[in-house]
Amino acid sequence: MAFDLDGRRVWIAGHRGMVGGALCRRLGNENVTLLTADRRALDLRRQADVEAWVQANRPDVVVIAAAVVGGIKANDAYPVDFLYDNLAIQTNVVRASAEAGVSRLMVLGSSCIYPKHAEQPITEETLLTAPLEPTNQWYALSKIAAVKLAEAYRKQHGFNFISVVPTNLYGPGDNFDLDQGHVISALMRKIHEAKRDGRDEVEIWGTGSPQREFVYVDDAADGLVFLLRHYAALAPINLAGGEEVSIRQLADILAEIIGFRGRFKYLTDRPDGMPRKLLDGSAVAELGWRPHTTLKAGLTKTYRWFAETGGQGRVP
Ligand code: GDP
Repeated sequence: MAFDLDGRRVWIAGHRGMVGGALCRRLGNENVTLLTADRRALDLRRQADVEAWVQANRPDVVVIAAAVVGGIKANDAYPVDFLYDNLAIQTNVVRASAEAGVSRLMVLGSSCIYPKHAEQPITEETLLTAPLEPTNQWYALSKIAAVKLAEAYRKQHGFNFISVVPTNLYGPGDNFDLDQGHVISALMRKIHEAKRDGRDEVEIWGTGSPQREFVYVDDAADGLVFLLRHYAALAPINLAGGEEVSIRQLADILAEIIGFRGRFKYLTDRPDGMPRKLLDGSAVAELGWRPHTTLKAGLTKTYRWFAETGGQGRVP
């Protein structure tokens, strides 16, 4: 039986982030009351504050889209922020939600929670079967803890808490900072600026051979709302079904969209990270959901937004 969202008070923790923002846009089409807490008003790392906020605002449904996120360089550079802050945010929100008796809670994992050399495509059962990729282990460990905490609350107390593992996401609202961002936003910015400034070379980290699967963020938000309604089990479920490309292919597609005719220089002393992380999306596909935006279309929309706003603006 589908979970009925109608008339519910839905708290999107992390509504200013790329995923949280897309969820708010998607839920704008539903008959729900959206709850959000501004960062200045509520620090999710402080347990007592989170408990007080949840008691005062009484959500029925909670989605934890809040996290310290970043690309391969940021992950490696700020291990404490990625591990401690994320552990704190997630445990505080899960605990406060349980104590307030929320009807439904969704934790978001990440494809980096799976082992570095997992068999591809990566099924949900692969979790915790082998070592992690070191560059993003801090984020991965915090996300594994969150997935397991949702599972623990379901197992011990029967709460209707679930966890979802989205594949790599991108889109308007992404972080376009070159040190902090993921590969799509970073390369989009580098290529855009090279073209604007008349430079004919762009640096790409690593060998260009790693493969990544990408889903457009508005598709992902639609998938998350679908799973809020239709998924209820102990195990995490992958939100996948995107297009897989190598970093080299991605750079070529971006060059075409942006109109850059220069060359790419591969900095092979920079880390590649996971060689491949294609998620198995068959479980969510069997439930009846798949993404619709092609990589080319999603990148084109994202670039349009970036070129208009410089990556800072609000997403319409
Ligand atoms: P990951 O998916 O967790 O590894 O995170 P990223 O999106 O940051 O990186 C994906 C891949 O793109 C890695 O192999 C990076 O080395 C590569 N890459 C190439 N150039 C860049 C860049 O300018 N920024 C980022 N973040 N990654 C890059």
